Amino acid sequence: MTIHDRRDWHAGARQSSWTALDTNITGLSEAEAADRLRSFGPNALPVSARQHPVLRFLAHFNSALIYFLFAAAAAALVLGHAVDASIILAVVIVNAIVGFVQEGKAERALEAIRELIAPRASALRDGARTSVAIDALVPGDVVMLEAGDRVPADLRLIRARGLLIDEALLTGESVAAEKDDGAGDDVGLAVNLPLGDRTNMAFSGTLVAAGQATAMVVETGLRTQIGQIAALLQTVGTTTTPLLLQIDNFAKRFTWIVGVATVLLFAFAVGVRGFDWPDALIAVVALAVGVIPEGLPAVITITMAIGVRRMAARNAVVRKLPAVETLGATSVICTDKTGTLTRGEMTAARVVASDHAVTVTGAGYAPHGQLEAAGDDDAGAIAAVLPILRCGILCNDADLIDTAGRWSVVGDPIEGALLALGGKAGLQPAHVRGEWPRIDEIPFDAGHRYMASLHRGPAGACAIFIKGAPEALYVMATAPFDRDKWDAIIATAAASGERVLAFGVKQLDDAPDRLTAAALDAVEFLGIVGFIDPPRAEAVAAIAECRSAGIAVKMITGDHSATALAIARQLKLADDPQGVTGTDLDGMSDADLQALVQRVSVFARTSPEHKLRIVRALQVDAAVVAMTGDGVNDAPSLKASDVGIAMGCKGTEAAKEAADIVLLDDNFASIVAAVHEGRTVYDNIRKVIVWTLPTNGGETVAVVLAILIGFQLPLTATQILWTNLLLASTLGLALAFEPSEPGVMRRPPRLASKPLLSADIVWRVGLTSAGLAAVVLGMFFWATTHDRDLATARTMVVNMIMVMGIVHLFNVRYTYGTSINLRGVMGTFAVVASIVIVAAAQALFTYAPFMQSLFDSRPLTIWDWATIVGVGVGLFIFMEVEKLSSRWRSMRDQQRRRRKTESVAPPAIQD
Ligand code: ADP
Ligand code: MG
Repeated sequence: MTIHDRRDWHAGARQSSWTALDTNITGLSEAEAADRLRSFGPNALPVSARQHPVLRFLAHFNSALIYFLFAAAAAALVLGHAVDASIILAVVIVNAIVGFVQEGKAERALEAIRELIAPRASALRDGARTSVAIDALVPGDVVMLEAGDRVPADLRLIRARGLLIDEALLTGESVAAEKDDGAGDDVGLAVNLPLGDRTNMAFSGTLVAAGQATAMVVETGLRTQIGQIAALLQTVGTTTTPLLLQIDNFAKRFTWIVGVATVLLFAFAVGVRGFDWPDALIAVVALAVGVIPEGLPAVITITMAIGVRRMAARNAVVRKLPAVETLGATSVICTDKTGTLTRGEMTAARVVASDHAVTVTGAGYAPHGQLEAAGDDDAGAIAAVLPILRCGILCNDADLIDTAGRWSVVGDPIEGALLALGGKAGLQPAHVRGEWPRIDEIPFDAGHRYMASLHRGPAGACAIFIKGAPEALYVMATAPFDRDKWDAIIATAAASGERVLAFGVKQLDDAPDRLTAAALDAVEFLGIVGFIDPPRAEAVAAIAECRSAGIAVKMITGDHSATALAIARQLKLADDPQGVTGTDLDGMSDADLQALVQRVSVFARTSPEHKLRIVRALQVDAAVVAMTGDGVNDAPSLKASDVGIAMGCKGTEAAKEAADIVLLDDNFASIVAAVHEGRTVYDNIRKVIVWTLPTNGGETVAVVLAILIGFQLPLTATQILWTNLLLASTLGLALAFEPSEPGVMRRPPRLASKPLLSADIVWRVGLTSAGLAAVVLGMFFWATTHDRDLATARTMVVNMIMVMGIVHLFNVRYTYGTSINLRGVMGTFAVVASIVIVAAAQALFTYAPFMQSLFDSRPLTIWDWATIVGVGVGLFIFMEVEKLSSRWRSMRDQQRRRRKTESVAPPAIQD
């Protein structure tokens, strides 16, 4: 094919573009598209080259902690302690390798996850509307645009309706640009217009703010306007989170404190205790290396990465890493109704015209079923509702597909249900649409809540068909209009949870070629259709889980309040769900709203703007708010919420980009699963810290005491370094892989304002460190006073430290209950594997001759081992008892507090 080579697609007749691209209004065939993809290349911009692996590996050495360790190794080497120097280097290198490997894994996992939410476009292939991966678009494709879409390539517009495009990315212009197809486009625009004025074009990467369009792809990939300034597009992803920052700051401060303490201790050892200075130096260096938790940041990052992977497995894709930890603190979830709490599979159940009503049988989207009149005049009733059904077919953008008897819908489910309804009454959508060709339309929008379309009829007559929320049609209805009668009919349908849509028609004598909102008056109100959309079974369970987890669930919907309340009751959203409407909110001050949002769980007839006010009102009370959204107007509330959640299926690109999390299945249960995983991540990070700090701290306290008081060191410097190396790279990592504890969703959410190193953690770390130090010293004195020489006593101490590390690990695995249960005793694979490694390494340490000469260790007898393990078991029992008793105390306090708050709970208010 001769490849087009022009840049001035806005100029010249549209026909010339068709010709240049060898295509037409029906688009390309799949075969032709595949052909062109080969010659034009994918419609993608080159991604920034990944950092070279060597550079990424080296990056792991770039931290204050590691510099300190290098200095320590250098000092050891200068003093002639080659073994110590190499152990310190081993610590550093093992650390870097673990970090590098895990980071690589995490990155690959994230990439795979990102694929899952890669954007797609709607294109015509083989004459049918299909969803095509954006990078597979080629010049000549015909694509459809809707509000909220990112423009997938450079396009020449064929047909545009109310199209507004935000081109700030290209032009810097913050006001969305109006676009039109240049009706009767035989000339095109002037050649040298600036980009911002090329109103018959849509440019790749810009955002559709409103309207709809059909357009032809003229340039793809690097040949697009944005492709020429591709550098702009290198988006910066957040790779750090508040929690990681906290840890980082802690590590920095800790390093300083350790540095100063080391110098003081050195001075004391040499000056007061009369140590030889090289001995003292190597001892304090070993201590410093031992106490610094150099592996902590890496382990925490790994913990989060594992959380991200688990969330993806449960259909929640994390776009921004901080969301992982915020999720765990979520105290309110604001959610959509349709498709999220409900199945989103609509079936028309009743049709009511002025004087007749019919009920509809059949399920799903198959056009098989009966229309049955309430009285016995079936034929008369069906004739009476036919205008409603016709309106439902014409004012409709969906299609039904029959694949071997399984009917599914392309487009809006409610519109699919209308096609099935028409089919049941014998109206063929294709036939009706052929009779009434569409001239123009006003697309549905969650703001105005109706859709209207303008058609030319069979006898040359013209009509506007309208469908939408009843209130939206009431105001258009021609007088006389019996509003009370319709209100009563709608209330009956809505009270049983039906979603109600109203229909209207306006006959015109001659047709304008554009449809505007101004034309929508004196409309004949035809009647209503009620749809059933049953609640998702998983949503019922997920809501019960939220309630037991102290998470409030608020339903925010554009639907009728009676429908919403009926669904809320079926879902048991609250004991007695209360609702308000968007109109109620409009007249309300922020202060009143803050009080209201606490008590009300259903917000009906809301527009996207209300969501923002609701989020803000909830956040005043320090609530951590998760909010779902799908439309282009939802972006502000998704950004304002603490966790913005976009729908992966029905969500727009604009919503996904604003969100922290994208749900692959649009299902409420997946949000709750993500919260569950978020809580687990936080728990595990806590566990890592509660384990790491005391295991490092205990031996340090013991050795420091020995120096301060002036007796022999219970461990040599080399041995301190050995325990540090072994523990950090094995047991320390195992906790990152912990599964959720039972009961994660049976406790209230944690306070987001509570720092990670809260008073109770600091207390626990201090207590455990002191306990471990006491055991180290106890073991040392016992051994030296019971016929063991110094080296054997030290060997026992080192083994004791390892056993304590394991005991402590088992204790920490269950924060909220005893670890003495089958799962707790068996451990996870990571736990078992790390214990096996530690045991093997200690066997070498104790018995292998070369290790004995390196570490000055001695073989132990069976009685020595019995003593060590016996003390370990005793310690385990002691720690478990302590944990349970403190747990019991805090539960008692909580109950007291709850009793107090319950007695002052505000009374619920009426709708
Ligand atoms: P929800 O919050 O439950 O998803 P929407 O915001 O999608 O509700 O819709 C709000 C209201 O707009 C619906 O109750 C219905 O009356 C009307 N509506 C929904 N979809 C359409 C449509 N495709 N055409 C016309 N009106 C619609
Ligand atoms: Mg909606």
